Amino acid sequence: MAVKPLSAVKLKHFEALILKELNESRSYIDKANQDQSIGARESSGDLSSYAFHQADQGSDTNLMEQNVMLMEQEREKVRLLNDALKKIAEGLFGKCEICGDNIAETRLEVIPYARYCMDCKTKEEDKKRRRK
Ligand SMILES: [Zn+2]
Repeated sequence: MAVKPLSAVKLKHFEALILKELNESRSYIDKANQDQSIGARESSGDLSSYAFHQADQGSDTNLMEQNVMLMEQEREKVRLLNDALKKIAEGLFGKCEICGDNIAETRLEVIPYARYCMDCKTKEEDKKRRRK
C-alpha cells in the first residue's frame, strides 16, 4: 500500500482534535494542582486531626497514588499532544514512528497523538511484557 499523506482537510480536523484534548488535559492538571495545594494547606500544622485521620491513611494514600498516576498520565499526554502538533507542522503527522506506514485514521480519531501503527504498537507492548 502506497503511503500517501493526509489531506489538508483531515490534518485540520486532527489538529482541532489535538488542541481540544490539549485544553482538557491542561485544565485537568491546573485543577489537580490547585486541589493539591489546598489539601496541603489544610493538613499542615494540625497534629490532632492528623492522628484522628491516621486510621484512614491507607485509603488516603491509595487515592493520592491514584491522583499522582493520573497526573503523570495527563502530563505524558500533553507531551504527546505537543509532539503531534509539531508533526502536523512538519508534515509527519499520522505516520508510524517505527515503520513509517500510515496510522489508521480510525485509530487517530480515538488517539490523535498515537505514535505507532497498530502492528508496531502491539509488537512494542509484547517486547515490554517480555522484559518484565
Ligand atoms: Zn508501524
